[in-house]
Amino acid sequence: MSERFYVNCPLEVGPTAIQGAEAHHLAVVCRLRPGDAVCLFNGDGREYHAVILEAGKRTVELDVQRIETPERELPFRLEVAVPLPKGDRAQVLVEKLTELGVHRLVPLRTARSVVHPGDAKRGKLERWVIEASKQCGRNLLLEVAPLTDWASYCERDDLPRLRWLAHPAPDGEVSLTRSRSDRVIAVGPEGGFTEEEVERAVSLGWQRVGLGPRILRVETAAITLAALCALSDALER
Ligand code: SAM
Repeated sequence: MSERFYVNCPLEVGPTAIQGAEAHHLAVVCRLRPGDAVCLFNGDGREYHAVILEAGKRTVELDVQRIETPERELPFRLEVAVPLPKGDRAQVLVEKLTELGVHRLVPLRTARSVVHPGDAKRGKLERWVIEASKQCGRNLLLEVAPLTDWASYCERDDLPRLRWLAHPAPDGEVSLTRSRSDRVIAVGPEGGFTEEEVERAVSLGWQRVGLGPRILRVETAAITLAALCALSDALER
């Protein structure tokens, strides 16, 4: 696969230019030169194969020669609602959910959550989505929703019918059903969902799922559950 670069504008066959951090990455970090082939994407689901015409540190001129629409998305929508873990663990979470094909990440505020991202942090999360998409070949960007209260989120009537809420079970039972339908998965904060939060969600139709007898950190639980969804689809193909 050619080196991939993100462009925040519409693309078509013909001349185009990339600027700023992506131009720097192409010309200075990757040391690509005129004549080298690269792949551009802008999050519209397609990838644009281009050849470099001129490679400056601030602006790179390219010629887009062909457009492709490879199938790299899950065949169902997968949304993950989770309070952000602290520090670097949030970056790991965003990177891995992007790689696994998650469509939307909803940062949650719950009774016990402590990290509540504002707009600046959301910008950082979106940058991590782009970096992970460059690496894994995704041409649709995972959408990062604004900070959302669990209390109102869990009762929304526009969520998929399949709603899984991860909560440690007393017997540690792993309880997942295979499905190719759209779904949302919710994971609690370090302190866990409160029993009231769990009971309310269950009364609204959320299905409680266990992930084994050990307590996983927030990002481990979210990534594991997302991977189980993505993998069960791969096994059924
Ligand atoms: N003491 C908390 C509790 O008992 O809920 C632990 C919280 S855990 C660090 C963070 C979140 O990951 C939990 O709220 C849950 O959503 C998920 N989680 C971690 N381990 C799990 C398991 N074995 N089964 C189901 N969910 C789990």
